[in-house]
Amino acid sequence: MRVLVTGGAGFLGSHLCEHLLERGAEVICMDSFLTGSPRNVEHLMDRPAFRLIETDLTGFVHVPGSLDLILHLASAASPVDYLRHPIETLKVGSLGTLHALGLAKEKGARFVLASTSEVYGDPLEHPQRETYWGNVNPVGPRSVYDEAKRFAESLATAYRNAATTDTAIVRIFNTYGPRMRPYDGRAIPTFIRQALNDEPITVTGDGSQTRSICYVDDTITGILAMADSDFTGPVNIGNPAEVTMLELAETIRDLTGSSSSIVFVPRPADDPAVRRPDTDLAASRLGWHATVPAVEGLRRTIDWFSTQLQRPEELTRR
Ligand code: NAD
Repeated sequence: MRVLVTGGAGFLGSHLCEHLLERGAEVICMDSFLTGSPRNVEHLMDRPAFRLIETDLTGFVHVPGSLDLILHLASAASPVDYLRHPIETLKVGSLGTLHALGLAKEKGARFVLASTSEVYGDPLEHPQRETYWGNVNPVGPRSVYDEAKRFAESLATAYRNAATTDTAIVRIFNTYGPRMRPYDGRAIPTFIRQALNDEPITVTGDGSQTRSICYVDDTITGILAMADSDFTGPVNIGNPAEVTMLELAETIRDLTGSSSSIVFVPRPADDPAVRRPDTDLAASRLGWHATVPAVEGLRRTIDWFSTQLQRPEELTRR
């Protein structure tokens, strides 16, 4: 099995590369390092079955030899990142996806698109089922990410229907775990960093908005179950256990034993009020559901962040 992981040096991509190598696959990891880093895969560099290639997927892309599977994860994913790189995000969702699909067509490879729960926007249906079309503001600040992913889903579908390429779509819900960047702006790394440093924990709005958080190992198992199947999706991959942001901040404060206060700051524009996957389709078609309880996943993540935050500031800031 020869697999290309685009965005493989990012948070999810690096875990995927690791799991694929454990299964005996040959893994080509392609990344521009826009938001990822070679550090995330440096522990894999001496494995003969692993290759890291620095490439911007929006430019010319070539992979010599055969490919059985392409897992397309390249894209900034945290709001801080995609708002800092709006055009790059639109380009990788459109041109980058087009190039990755072209490669899948050329090689006869199965193609799995890492889409997102953000295609549902600020949802008017709760929990979100795959049949829901979403509520996205096309000119809001988050649209650079949401609409890029919606366009990528459309591209993957067109390649399946018109170009008979074996494409599939997973809609990933909020995932957390080791190798998230402490300053990437997502809630869990922010809360953990603030709690470990005994700084005020910044909850946006009144903290009543909800998210459903999934530990990285569960998300990876879900993506790989989709890759192994012949299902086209789209399918939700997430943990339906839903928490308010205030509950999440309090849990992290308790687990870290921190003396941080909790402070409320303004909510970003178009921030979804609720988010919870309906995972019945993943259960019935892939036999998959999340298994790691939030407290356990958060403990593992906090342990990892504790070691990271002891590193010099310039290594953790990026
Ligand atoms: P990440 O930022 O850690 O990883 C994304 C990777 O893509 C980075 O390594 C980055 O350098 C790379 N990249 C960006 N533009 C590129 C380009 N033009 N060419 C090559 N590489 C490029 O983010 P992540 O959390 O690991 O997310 C990975 C994927 O999963 C993304 O597509 C994201 O939309 C999707 N996803 C993630 C989550 C989550 O909770 N982590 C939720 C939903 C969807």
